[in-house]
Amino acid sequence: MNGITRRLRVATVGLALLLAGSGLSSRVTQAQAQAPRQVTSPEKFFGFQMGADRKLVRWDKAVEYYRLLERESGGRLKVVDMGPTEMGNPFLLVIITSPANHAKLESLRQMNLKLSDPRGVSEAEIKRIVAEGKVVICQTMSMHASEVGGVNMAPELTYDLVSRTDAETQRILDNVVYLEIPSFNPDGAIMIHDYYVKYLGTEYEGGPLPWLYNKYIGHDNNRDALTMNMRDSQYVGKLMFVDWTPQAYVDHHHMGSYGARIFVPPYAEPVRPLADPQVWREMQWYGAHIAYKEEEAGLSGVMNTGQYSGWGHFGFHWITPFHNIAGMLTESASVRIATPLYIDPSQLAGGARGLETYKEQMNFPNPWPGGWWTLRGIVERQKVSAWATLDLAARNKETVLWNAYLKASRQTERGAKGKPAAYAMSARQHDPLTLNKLVNALLAQGIEVLRSPGGFAAPDGMTYPAGSFYVTLAQPKMGLIRYLLGETHYMDNEHTRRPDGTPIRPYDMGQDVLAEYMGIRADPLNEAVPGDFVKVTAPIVPAGKVAAQAPLGYVIDGRLNDSFRAVNLLWDKGVAVKRVDAASAGLRPGDWIVPAAPPSVLADVARQTGVEFSALKAAVTQGVHDATRLRIGIYQRYRGGNMDEGWTRWLFEQWGFPFTQVYDAEIRKGGLNAKYDVFIFADDTTSTITGEAAAAGGGRGEGGGRGGSFAAVPDTTPPEYRSGIGNDGVAAIRDFVQKGGTLVTLGGATDFAITKLGLPVRNVVAGLSTKEFFVPGSTLRVKIETTNPLAYGMPSDGLVLFHYSPAFDVVATDFNDRNEVVVRYADRNIERSGWVNGEQYIAGKTAMASIGFGQGKVVLIGFRTQNRAQTHGTYKFLFNALVSSPARQSSATR
Ligand SMILES: [Zn+2]
Repeated sequence: MNGITRRLRVATVGLALLLAGSGLSSRVTQAQAQAPRQVTSPEKFFGFQMGADRKLVRWDKAVEYYRLLERESGGRLKVVDMGPTEMGNPFLLVIITSPANHAKLESLRQMNLKLSDPRGVSEAEIKRIVAEGKVVICQTMSMHASEVGGVNMAPELTYDLVSRTDAETQRILDNVVYLEIPSFNPDGAIMIHDYYVKYLGTEYEGGPLPWLYNKYIGHDNNRDALTMNMRDSQYVGKLMFVDWTPQAYVDHHHMGSYGARIFVPPYAEPVRPLADPQVWREMQWYGAHIAYKEEEAGLSGVMNTGQYSGWGHFGFHWITPFHNIAGMLTESASVRIATPLYIDPSQLAGGARGLETYKEQMNFPNPWPGGWWTLRGIVERQKVSAWATLDLAARNKETVLWNAYLKASRQTERGAKGKPAAYAMSARQHDPLTLNKLVNALLAQGIEVLRSPGGFAAPDGMTYPAGSFYVTLAQPKMGLIRYLLGETHYMDNEHTRRPDGTPIRPYDMGQDVLAEYMGIRADPLNEAVPGDFVKVTAPIVPAGKVAAQAPLGYVIDGRLNDSFRAVNLLWDKGVAVKRVDAASAGLRPGDWIVPAAPPSVLADVARQTGVEFSALKAAVTQGVHDATRLRIGIYQRYRGGNMDEGWTRWLFEQWGFPFTQVYDAEIRKGGLNAKYDVFIFADDTTSTITGEAAAAGGGRGEGGGRGGSFAAVPDTTPPEYRSGIGNDGVAAIRDFVQKGGTLVTLGGATDFAITKLGLPVRNVVAGLSTKEFFVPGSTLRVKIETTNPLAYGMPSDGLVLFHYSPAFDVVATDFNDRNEVVVRYADRNIERSGWVNGEQYIAGKTAMASIGFGQGKVVLIGFRTQNRAQTHGTYKFLFNALVSSPARQSSATR
C-alpha cells in the first residue's frame, strides 16, 4: 500500500474522533467557572520534575498521563488517539480549551474553516465569526526525537493549562482552541528513552542513537510535510491543512549547544516570497511576545531573527506560512539527551546568521554566561515560549481572527489578479497514474483541485482532454500552489551570497517543485479558464482494467511507475512476466508482457495498482526477455543510521520489492553472490561506508551537525555500533561484482564505488570551490537513453534532482564497450528550477552510468533518484536496476 492510498484510510478517522469529542453536556459547561479540584502534577505522576537531570519521560507513560489529565481536567482537555505510528505506538492529539468550547468544538471548527477560506462567505458572517469564534493554535513536540525538550516540557505545560485557575489561564481557555501534539515522533521518543536509560551511568551515557529514530526516515521526518508519506506526517497534515488551519503553529526543536540558549521567532533573511506579508508580521509579533516573556521570567540566552532563514525546506513549520498559518519554531541549545553539559564561557560562540559574535546585541540582549546547561533549562524556556504563544492569541482574539480572514482573502485576490492565473495538468501525461498521486498530494495540503469531465481549451490554444485537472491560484493557498507546481528559482541577492559572490548554502533544497519531482507537466495559464469543472473531493484511486479478450496475452505500459508494483504482485503469485527490449507492434522497450495469468489475479492486481492489462495485439517472439525478480540486499549501517537508506527501504516496501538489510558482519564474510543479485548503497560518504572515519549521526546532510543532539563523539558510541565494512568488506563487494553481481550506488555513495573498485570514472565537480560550482537541490534537464534497460519507461528528455551531487566523465579505456552512459545533463539551459551556479562544469556530462566490472556491473546514479520518496519521476532508474536485464553480449563473443 503506498502512502497516498494509505492516506485515504487516515482521512476518515481523525474527524470522526474529533466529533466524538464534542459531546459534552451543558452541566460540564457550567462547571467552567469552578477550578478542577484534583489534578495530578507531572512530578507526582512521573516521580521527577520535568527536565530533571538524567530523567526522561517515556512515551507510554506520557500517554497514560494525558489520559489521566483528561479525566481530571474538569472538561478542559480531550485526548484524541489519531491512530498508530509506523511502529504501532499511539499518536495523540490533545485538545485543550474551555468546557464550553469543547461542547461546540465542531461548530468552532466550521467557523474557523470559513475564516481560512472565506470565498463565498459574506462579510457579516465573517464579523460574526470573528466575534464568536476562537483562535486555533497548534504546537508540536520533539519531532526530532533526540531533541527531547518538547516531549518533556509538554506534560508540565498541559498540567498548567488544566490546573491553573488564574485570569490569564482562563482567558486562554476561553479564547483559544489549543491543539497539542505532545510527541510528533512517538516511535523515536521511545527509542531515545530506552537507549539513553540503557547506557545511563556508563561511558556511553548521552551518546547518539546508533540508528534512525523512527522506522524509516529519522531527521527527514520534517521534510515529509511535502508529500506526507509517513503516518505521523499524515495525522498532523490532516489536522492542520485540512481539518483546522490554525492561526499559528509552533514546532519545538533543539539546535547546537554553543550559541544562543533558545532561538524564537521570527526567522532571518532571506524571506521566501509569495506568502501573505502579514504572516511574517505575525511571526514577529508572536516572537516579540515570546522573547518579552522569556526576559520577564528571567531566562537568558534568547535570540530571535537569526540562524533560521525564512526560506527553508517545506517542513512543517516552513510550509505553514503558505497555508496562511504563522508557522514558527523554537530551537533550544542541546544537552546530551538528559545529561547536563558543562560549557566554559570561552566556548560560547556566534557564527550563526544574525549572531556573528557571541555578545549582547539587539536580537540577543541577554547572553547566557556559560556554566552547566541542563534539560531543565530547555524545558523552562520552551514552556514560556509555548505559553506566550497561547497568551498573545488569547489577548488579541478578534485581531488574530480578523487577520486570518484578511490573509486568506488577500492571497485569493493576489492569485486572481496575478500571472499565472492557474495551472492545467493534462490527463495525457507520460505516467498518468503518477498524476493522480500528485493530485492526491495537493488535496492532502488542502489545495482545491478541479477536474474537467469533458476537457477544455486554454486561451493560448492548448487543449486538455477529459479528466484533466485545473488548479486556480484564486484560492487562499496560492503561494503554496505556485511553489509545488511552478518553476521556482532560488533567490539570488545580497542575502544569499557573501560580498565576494560566493553563494551561501540554502537551508535545504533550492526549490520544492513537486510536479517536477514527479515528472508531471503542469502548465501555467496566464488567464483563468471558465470551464465546466468539478471539484475533486476525495483522493483519486484509479481502478485499473483488464482486457476482456486477450488470446495472445496482456501488456502493461512500462512508462507507469505502478507497472513495477503490478509486476511485483504478479511475481508474488508466481505469474511469469516478459519484458520488451525492442519497439514493435505498438510496444515500447520496458513494456511488460503477461502471457497468461488467472483472471482473478489480474483483476486483483489491476484494482490494487490502477494499471491496465491490455490485450497483446500480435505474438512477440523476438526483442523480449524473461523478466525475473532479483535478490536485493541493501547496506544497513549504524552511526545514526542513513536516512536515504530508510527512504529506499520504505519505497521498496510500497512498490513490493522484497529486500534484505545487510549489516557489516555479513558483508565482511563475503560470498554475497550466493544470496544477492543486486546490492545497494544509499547516498552516503565513502568514509562512513568503510568506517575509516566516524560519521555524524542522522545520515548525510545537515542532520548531524545542525541538530547538535548527536555530535560525532566516537567515545560515546559503544563498539558494537561503530560500523563500517572495512577492507574485508570492500574486498567482498569487489568479489561480488566480479562474479556477476550488480552494485547500485546512489548519490555520494558513487564515490565509494569509483574509488574503492577503481572504476574508470571521474567526478567532474570534485574539488571545485563553491564559488565555481554550487547547485543546491535543483531540478536539472537531462537527456535519457531510453533504449538502455536501466532507462526503460523513461521519456528521452527529463528532469532529475541534483543536490550537491556528483557528475561524471567515463574515462577512456580499452574496454569502453562495457560501459554505458544512461543519463547525461543537457548541453545548455540546464536549470529548470532551483539555483545552478556554474552549469558549464556539468553541461553534457554523465549523470548516470553503468560500468562493467568483471562479470558484473556497477550502476552509478549521481542525482537523487528516489529523494525522500518524492521524486517519482526518476524512480524507474532505480527500479529498472532491480529486475533482470536482457542477456548482454560479452566483449569476448562479439
Ligand atoms: Zn529538529
